Amino acid sequence: MLKQRIFWHDTVDMPSDKDLPPLPDRVGVAVIGSGFTGLAAARTLAQRGTRVAVLEAETIGWGASSRNGGMALTGLKLPMQTVIKKYGRGLAKRLFQCSLDSIDTVEQIVRDEKIDCGFARTGHLLAANKPKHFDALKDEAEFMAKEFNHNVRLVPPGEMQSEIGSDAYHGALVDEVSGGLNPAQFVAGLARAAENAGATLHARARVTNLTRGEKRFVVETERGTLEAESVFVATAGYTGPTTKSLQKKIIPIGSFIIATEKLPDDLARELSPKNRMIFDTKHYLNYFRLWDGRMIFGGRAAFFPENENTIATSAEILRREMVTVYPQLRDARVEYVWGGTLDFAFDMMTHVGEEAGMFYALGYAGHGVAMGTYLGKTVAEAMLAGNIKEHPFAQFDFPSAPLGLYDGRPWFLPFAGMWHKILDWVE
Ligand SMILES: Cc1cc2nc3c(=O)[nH]c(=O)nc-3n(C[C@H](O)[C@H](O)[C@H](O)COP(=O)(O)OP(=O)(O)OC[C@H]3O[C@@H](n4cnc5c(N)ncnc54)[C@H](O)[C@@H]3O)c2cc1C
Repeated sequence: MLKQRIFWHDTVDMPSDKDLPPLPDRVGVAVIGSGFTGLAAARTLAQRGTRVAVLEAETIGWGASSRNGGMALTGLKLPMQTVIKKYGRGLAKRLFQCSLDSIDTVEQIVRDEKIDCGFARTGHLLAANKPKHFDALKDEAEFMAKEFNHNVRLVPPGEMQSEIGSDAYHGALVDEVSGGLNPAQFVAGLARAAENAGATLHARARVTNLTRGEKRFVVETERGTLEAESVFVATAGYTGPTTKSLQKKIIPIGSFIIATEKLPDDLARELSPKNRMIFDTKHYLNYFRLWDGRMIFGGRAAFFPENENTIATSAEILRREMVTVYPQLRDARVEYVWGGTLDFAFDMMTHVGEEAGMFYALGYAGHGVAMGTYLGKTVAEAMLAGNIKEHPFAQFDFPSAPLGLYDGRPWFLPFAGMWHKILDWVE
C-alpha cells in the first residue's frame, strides 16, 4: 500500500523547521498561514515597510500550496455565465479580469524574484466527458468571446490527437492564457522573497487564540504570544477553530494526486503533445499534466481531507481513472500519492474582506495557485490603502451554511460525494 509522499517536495528544498527564529513581540501585521496567500501578502506588506510575521502551524508552505496540480488557470470555479447571472455584467467582468491579472501576477513575481519553478504559459485543455458536454463548451466559447472578449479555441472530437493521446473525450476547449508551474518550487521561492523583503517566517507557530484589545490583537501561538495591529487569515482549507466565524463558512474538501515514474520521452509527448494543464467536465473531476516526464494525475477521489485511508483508496481510484484516460499507462509504476485540502465557500466563490481588523482571503475552490498569489498581494495593498471594501471580491456576501447547519465539521461530505457521482451519471 502506497503511503503519502509528495512528489513536488522531492524537487526542492522546502523551508526547514530547524533553527526557528524567536517570535517578535509586536508587529504591524500577523499573517496566519504560509501558503501562496500568506506569503504573497507578507512580501507585499514587507516591501511597503510594514513589520510582518508569518505564523504557520506546520512548516512553511506545508498546506495546499505545495501539494497542488500547479495549474494557474483563467476564470473562477463557477462558470462565468453563472457569475453574470448572480452578480451582473459589471462585477463579473471585474472578477474575470482579476483571474487574468492573477496569472500575470504569478508571472511577474516569478520573474522579479527569479523563482525557478518552471512557470510556462502552456495553456489549459478542458476535455468533454460526453458529447453533450462538448455542445456546452461550444456555447461557452461563444459566450466568452462575446461577453468577455476572451478567445478560447474549440477542439472538435476528430482533432483531439493533436492535444491529447487519449480517446476518452468528445472534444475540448483550449485556453492559451493559462499556465503551469511546480507549486512547491513556487511556494519555496515566495517564502524566500517574503523574507528578503523583510518579513519573518515562523514555522511550528500554530495560532491558538486571537483576542482583540483596544488597539491591537493579542495573538497566542504554540511558541509564544505577540501583538499585532492587524491580522491576515490565509488558512484556506485548514481554517480552524481559532477563527471560528470563518471556519463556519469554509468546507474543507480533500483532493488527491498520484505521480508516475518518469516515462519515456516519446510516450510523454504522445500523452500531452503541448504540455497542457488538462481537466475534464465531470463534477467528480480529474485534472492532470506532465512534469519532467511524469504524469501527475489528480482528482477528487475521496471527499474527506487527507488521511491514511483516503490517501490509500485515492491512489487506487486515481490509477484506475488514469488508465481509463490513458490505457498506455497500464504498466506505468505509480511512485507517489498525496492529498491536500481545498477550501470551498457555500456559494463556491472566493471571498475577501475584514471582520473587526481581521482580514481574510478564502474559498479558492481549487483555483488558488494564481488567485491565492493575487489576492494575497491585492488584499495586502487594500489593507495598506484602507479600501478593502472596494476590492472586487468583497462586493458580495460571504454566506454561512443554509439554516446554520454547520460548525466547521463537514458531516454532509459523504452525501455531497454521492450527489456529485449521481450528477456525473445523469448530466
Ligand atoms: C491536491 C490539490 C490540487 C490542487 N490543484 C490546484 C491547481 O492545479 N490549480 C489551482 O489553482 N489550485 C489548486 N489547488 C488549490 C490550491 O492549492 C489552493 O487554493 C491554494 O494553495 C491555497 O493557498 P493558501 O495560501 O490560501 O492556503 P494553504 O496553502 O492551504 O495554506 C494554509 C496554511 O495555513 C496553516 N494554518 C491553518 N491554521 C493555522 C493556525 N491556526 N495557525 C497557523 N497556521 C495555520 C496551514 O498549516 C497551512 O499551511 C489544489 C489543491 C489541492 C489540495
